[in-house]
Amino acid sequence: MLARFLIWTLLLLVVSRAVRSLLGGIVQGATKPPSRGGGAPEKGELMVRDPVCGTFVLPSRAVSTNDRQGTHHFCSDRCRQAYQQR
Ligand SMILES: [Zn+2]
Repeated sequence: MLARFLIWTLLLLVVSRAVRSLLGGIVQGATKPPSRGGGAPEKGELMVRDPVCGTFVLPSRAVSTNDRQGTHHFCSDRCRQAYQQR
């Protein structure tokens, strides 16, 4: 009878400690600022070079045009116009 009581007490202690440390970890994780690598917002998307000014741009956000050589991406409409006027 006493042994069972001791086992339960021990078990409760261990569980409550585990729960507390788990909650503490969650709180710590929530207060921590999200760590970001910085740079490219889209993962796995390769940046392409603007042939006019040389700036690297993301194809999904860039201004693009197609010609005989393929698709070209530009940082702005001005660069695209400059490219097309060449
Ligand atoms: Zn440009």
